[in-house]
Amino acid sequence: MTQKNRGILTVVSGFSGAGKGTIMKELMREHADCYALSVSATTRDPRPGETDGVEYFFRTREEFEQMIAEDALIEYAEYVGNYYGTPRTYVEEQLSAGKDVILEIEIQGALKIKKKFPETLLLFVTTPSAAELKQRLIGRGTESVEVVESRLARAVQEADGIEAYDYLVVNDVLSESVEEVHQMIRNEHRRVSRNINAIHNMRSELEDFMRHNEKGKEQ
Ligand code: 5GP
Repeated sequence: MTQKNRGILTVVSGFSGAGKGTIMKELMREHADCYALSVSATTRDPRPGETDGVEYFFRTREEFEQMIAEDALIEYAEYVGNYYGTPRTYVEEQLSAGKDVILEIEIQGALKIKKKFPETLLLFVTTPSAAELKQRLIGRGTESVEVVESRLARAVQEADGIEAYDYLVVNDVLSESVEEVHQMIRNEHRRVSRNINAIHNMRSELEDFMRHNEKGKEQ
């Protein structure tokens, strides 16, 4: 029972503009000691306020391709003309140390991760409606009309893959979505298939008690 279990790997995807980044920031603020958030590498330009090594590791295409060649990424994908990928070392170290790791990645990457690590928990964040999604993308004001349009087009494609996910997070009230994600991961720790060692230990302790009782009766 005392042996520390491997951490749970959770992938959070969702339509661009659905608020998954904000949910993740809040989750980390409120439960920093529970989770390790993986920082991805990307070839896209930093948005105002983004810092290398915090939101992303901002890399050139050449540098990114070098990481691919060195097998330094667990997965990578192209999204709206740029590469995005998950550095391997951090994720593996944290999971082995028993930390729950969260990847905030798009759907192609999520499906690759699920294939490689079938125990991964997949969460998909949406807005309550498509109209709300469009409004949030325009309202963000950090992207050009072309980028908003290509992100909406991408949302149409991604909507096709949602069935592969385990749970939907309908992001209406931020604080509720944050708590929901936290509870989904907490519940995942209670899954029987993740507690096989503890169950075996309990079974053999119970059998020991039985044997002791029977011995007591015989005397
Ligand atoms: P953004 O440019 O808005 O920061 O991210 C664009 C998309 O790329 C988002 O859906 C985000 O979740 C996804 N993304 C970020 N990092 C990774 C990654 O390491 N791998 C993959 N496959 N997607 C990522």
